Amino acid sequence: MTTRPTSPIERTGSDAHLATTVVTVSDAAIAALTAACPTTTDIDERAEASRDWWPLAMHWSLAGRVPQLASVVCSPTTVAAVAAVVAVCRDHRLPLTVAAGRSGVCGASVPVFGGVVLDLSSLQGVRSIDTTSGVVDVLAGTFGPDLERELAAHGCSVGHFPQSFDLATVGGWVACRGAGQYSTRYGKIEDMVVGLEVVLADGSTIRTGGAPAAAVGPDLTQLFVGSEGTLGVITRVWLRTHPLPAAPAMASYAFGDFGAGIDACRRILQRGATPAVLRLYDAPESARGQGGDGSQCMLLVLDEGDPEIVEATMRVVAQECAQAASLGPERVERWTHHRNDTSALQALTHKGYVVDTLEIAAPWSALVPIFDQVRTAMLAVPHARAATCHLSHSYADGACLYFTFAATPPADEVESTYVAMWDAGQRAVLAHGGNLSHHHGVGLNRARFVREALGGSFDVLRAVKDALDPQGILNPGKLGLPSPFGEVAWP
Ligand SMILES: Cc1cc2nc3c(=O)[nH]c(=O)nc-3n(C[C@H](O)[C@H](O)[C@H](O)COP(=O)(O)OP(=O)(O)OC[C@H]3O[C@@H](n4cnc5c(N)ncnc54)[C@H](O)[C@@H]3O)c2cc1C
Repeated sequence: MTTRPTSPIERTGSDAHLATTVVTVSDAAIAALTAACPTTTDIDERAEASRDWWPLAMHWSLAGRVPQLASVVCSPTTVAAVAAVVAVCRDHRLPLTVAAGRSGVCGASVPVFGGVVLDLSSLQGVRSIDTTSGVVDVLAGTFGPDLERELAAHGCSVGHFPQSFDLATVGGWVACRGAGQYSTRYGKIEDMVVGLEVVLADGSTIRTGGAPAAAVGPDLTQLFVGSEGTLGVITRVWLRTHPLPAAPAMASYAFGDFGAGIDACRRILQRGATPAVLRLYDAPESARGQGGDGSQCMLLVLDEGDPEIVEATMRVVAQECAQAASLGPERVERWTHHRNDTSALQALTHKGYVVDTLEIAAPWSALVPIFDQVRTAMLAVPHARAATCHLSHSYADGACLYFTFAATPPADEVESTYVAMWDAGQRAVLAHGGNLSHHHGVGLNRARFVREALGGSFDVLRAVKDALDPQGILNPGKLGLPSPFGEVAWP
């Protein structure tokens, strides 16, 4: 059983950075929570439970501050205990913020109005595996390595390998609509979910889905996928599995420009080939991590699965990359060993750099304009140093672009520079036909863009929230939704 890995930036204090009103938790409520499950009011444990991997909050952490401090941390080990905690929050009108792996990078699990943090990282375990159908039933707080270890013993895998594989939980994958690095073959998490068990804001427990396909009204499972703890607490997840793959096939290519590489990816996908990994790096990223010479754009390709399908897939890839230089499998092999190492980014944060990533999805026809406009907009921000990009997940109709940006502002301009870089980049994406997020989600960081990104359908999201959580207790202040506990004065 995995215990949550320690935070990337050491905790140096517990003063709150956000100027929000913290809701008081009465002694009676604390007693009721304590009766429901292991509960703590210890200041260090509350501070640790109140932050995630949001890069801006790491700067606050280095200055001795958490975004906001939870009043109580509850750590249930059973679904019944989760429901009991939710019922106490319902009865006492307490904000309840689910935190699991706390690997989110947008401040989604930060308890912005204090109250209760519901730590789901102890709700762990694989309940059953149906190897005939290829479905696993797993508790939401289970970490990736524990899930895959148990599946491997049965000769299967779900194929969901985010870069945060060691840090994140199954429930967090679902709640954030995440993507693994092998998603072009296996899909995003929403493609893998067969059904869910969810504790609603009124304390009741429901199940959704459960069949390979359905025509019974709208898909209620998908209502909770990506809801980031605002519509219910996901306690159990049924995921599709695949037979463990044979040894992978790998290839890499060098393109003269990013647009030519994007077009090759488009042709590969539109011919029906779905190599598990199809990653195209712009020239600076190719030089930084993939052995490029500063002018080449590297494409890394890896596929796995049935050997006959893999062979056909790699043949399609080779045909569509015929104009590029073929560089062999070594770069991909190297990538498989270093793909989850983000220590360089944390080192830059320690040095005072503003560093973050912005991932979006867009149709193929919009990708090159977005690539150009986002970099131009970000690099125009005072103190900007870099804005680079790779394409990391592909579909028949478009792909995900993943930007990495850095700036070196003076210490008193870290936050304003961070906000300006996000405003510049995200608004350029929206203006040129991209969406708000491909897999990192919204949390607090992107809350200010949601209404603009969803247009009229924002009111539908708001109506769903009002119907499922009329008191607004679930993760208030997130997803850009209004909160009965007040405004979040950020940014
Ligand atoms: C180094 C690094 C690399 C990353 N790479 C990827 C990547 O490749 N792909 C990707 O998709 N993401 C990536 N992420 C982002 C992050 O790991 C994912 O968003 C992950 O799915 C979050 O899971 P978690 O268990 O850590 O959730 P948390 O961070 O604890 O919570 C995130 C949000 O989900 C809600 N939530 C969590 N569990 C539940 C639940 N059971 N029920 C209801 N709500 C819940 C929380 O309230 C919060 O709103 C990366 C993060 C880091 C730090």
